[in-house]
Amino acid sequence: KVDINIIYGAIAFIITLILFFKPYIISGFVPLVVGILMIVALFLLMFKMQGLGDKGKVYDADKSENTHTTFKDVAGLDEEKHELIEIVDFLKNPKGYLDMGAKIPKGILLYGKPGTGKTLIAKAIAGEAGVPFISMSGSEFIEMFAGLGASRVRKLFEKAKKMAPCIIFIDEIDAIGSKREEENNKEGNSTLNQLLAEMTSDDNEDILIIGATNRADILDSALTRRGRLDRHIHVPNPDKNTRLAILKLYVKNKPMAEDVDLEEIARRTSGCSGADMEGIITEGAMLAIRADAEEITQEMLLKAIDRMVAGLERKSTEMIEFEKDVVSHHEAGHLMVSMVLDGSRKPNKITIVPHGEALGYVSYHEEEDRFIKTREELMHNMLTSLGGLVSEKVFFNHESTGCSSDLGTVTAIAKRMVTKYGMSDLGKMAIDERNGFMQEKIYDEMKKIVDEAYEKTYNIVMENKEVIHYIASELKVRETLEGVEIEELIQQFKMD
Ligand code: ADP
Ligand code: ZN
Repeated sequence: KVDINIIYGAIAFIITLILFFKPYIISGFVPLVVGILMIVALFLLMFKMQGLGDKGKVYDADKSENTHTTFKDVAGLDEEKHELIEIVDFLKNPKGYLDMGAKIPKGILLYGKPGTGKTLIAKAIAGEAGVPFISMSGSEFIEMFAGLGASRVRKLFEKAKKMAPCIIFIDEIDAIGSKREEENNKEGNSTLNQLLAEMTSDDNEDILIIGATNRADILDSALTRRGRLDRHIHVPNPDKNTRLAILKLYVKNKPMAEDVDLEEIARRTSGCSGADMEGIITEGAMLAIRADAEEITQEMLLKAIDRMVAGLERKSTEMIEFEKDVVSHHEAGHLMVSMVLDGSRKPNKITIVPHGEALGYVSYHEEEDRFIKTREELMHNMLTSLGGLVSEKVFFNHESTGCSSDLGTVTAIAKRMVTKYGMSDLGKMAIDERNGFMQEKIYDEMKKIVDEAYEKTYNIVMENKEVIHYIASELKVRETLEGVEIEELIQQFKMD
């Protein structure tokens, strides 16, 4: 496919050549025509460059199939969908919301690894609300012609304004708004500034902007501030159940053999994205066609996984298994230490599906806001934080890098206990940690407290070794356990 701009450029170039050699060719009527042609060509070229802002693809609710995507087409991700229902409501009736003075987010930032379904979710929001979906990629703003990013952004919003309420989806938004851009690249900066201005403009109240990125860490903070992309939703890699749900979605209308066991496929694809799941089914279908088979068999699907794993040069499955084992025991350690210390604190969920930097996490039911904590409670927090690494020590006899944020928490608590709350042998006073004379003493006291906490955590883990292992083994297979499931497991363990 030849880009139209190159053709215009070539015409302009040829005409310039002709003009240059004009004296050697003919004089009189021809140069005049050539001159006019050249001006026309230049004009067209500029016009075309200006028009690039129109490149965004538009899926109009009435005309296109694309906005018929709904939440039903998105498997799993229930929490994420739940968060978005309010926004769908707003898009259905923006005037009602705005008249009420209700605060709705101006924009949403979806972040997560590639292929986790960010684009799909954005489309589903449009589909649920029945509004047009304008989609654009961040890199499209920057490509080809320098200095035009800002005017493209303006054009895009002009177009959107005519269709509002609507959604503007900007994929790879980090191409426009990354910190690096801010420092080195003036153009990136003016594009970003235009985007920020459009986002905050009162004229654009009924345009919802959804940005997607897999690199939230490099985004310019101006983009994610209040009144801009202020609702941040992490789209995680799917856990086993979600993977199963995605598989089920894509085997519909496909001839599947009796022996197909999607559970097994889901189990064997830990770490794969939603797009990978779709790919496995597609690849399985290809294999069936090549083999002239009537149905897709389990063997074909397993082969498809192998290809995928080889193709993507993933970590060896052994490594994945080992890491899952470690993370399961780490998280189960946190969980049990916390439950032993405080039976009233109910866990909400425990998971080994990575989230941001964490390899897994335990979450608890929201407690009432508490402003005062006792020394005992602070110690409990410390012990709970240490539960992960102590569990690794007990079960694998190793130390690993998986605990750095836990240690951050532990250290911060110990420091506050010593310097702010007078909970150490240094006495009942607040101590300025910048005081060079005191630093060593502060350190010694912190170490005493942390050592005490470690000792206690170690004892708890040893005493509960079996139940921790029991939970970890389940967690490794099921990847996520909800609050009730955790309680059931513990009951089961007691009975066994
Ligand atoms: P992203 O924008 O996060 O890179 P996409 O939304 O483009 O990912 O997803 C790629 C493909 O993977 C989608 O077209 C969809 O078919 C499939 N997919 C990913 N996650 C899901 C999911 N939760 N449910 C159904 N399909 C999914
Ligand atoms: Zn941890």
